[in-house]
Amino acid sequence: AQRCYIVGNWKMNGMRSDLSEARAIDRASSRLPKVEVALAPPSTLILAMRDAVNHIGVGAQNCHAADKGAHTGDVSANMLREAGADFVIVGHSERRADHGETNEDVKAKAESAQAIDMGVILCVGESEAERDSGEAEEIVARQLAASLPDSCARLSVAYEPIWAIGTGRVPSVQDVGTMHKWLRAVLVDRYGEDGREVRILYGGSVKGENAAELLAAPEVGGALVGGASLSADGFVPIIVAAS
Ligand code: 13P
Repeated sequence: AQRCYIVGNWKMNGMRSDLSEARAIDRASSRLPKVEVALAPPSTLILAMRDAVNHIGVGAQNCHAADKGAHTGDVSANMLREAGADFVIVGHSERRADHGETNEDVKAKAESAQAIDMGVILCVGESEAERDSGEAEEIVARQLAASLPDSCARLSVAYEPIWAIGTGRVPSVQDVGTMHKWLRAVLVDRYGEDGREVRILYGGSVKGENAAELLAAPEVGGALVGGASLSADGFVPIIVAAS
């Protein structure tokens, strides 16, 4: 069986002075080898973080789907890998909302990273109105099916209900399990038995206090953590809960 995968998404947070937190997370992770731990800092810190840690993965939060060209302000998967990223998060709800990323964009980004053997964490999740509609599972399953790359090589999926991100609200463990079972069915439908190997992470207000319970839900293979990943004090208890 695969190790539990605990990933910190630093979003637009982190200066060089914050690398001390990454070092402390790295030291703690070296003592918890049953858990696979990674951090995704802003692009500006990838190289420095890669040099600062030994045991944890370092990744990016987005990439352009092309490998180079006239795209001012964008960075390709190739460039991110050269800077030290071994995976990239694609399709985060903040990018879908702030930058209008479509399912097709997300699929193309994922495939560009897989083409150079980088890991991919593909995010999906429903809005509060969609949850209230009673059809969250159908909606998120469709979103996932439309965003999936052609191959499941080095692919993880993160289920992040938008209304749970940064709010302190989390779905019930039962609702998480129900959603993850739906997403597993989409993965098996698309990739056959290989789809069972794709880890499905839960994200949205994961903390040390709720991590063990959420990680025990059916088909939950890890967590994608925002706010609580910014400090060792916040993140290490989640890693401990996973071990
Ligand atoms: P929070 O853990 O801050 O709710 O963020 C979750 C998230 O969006 C991770 O990608």
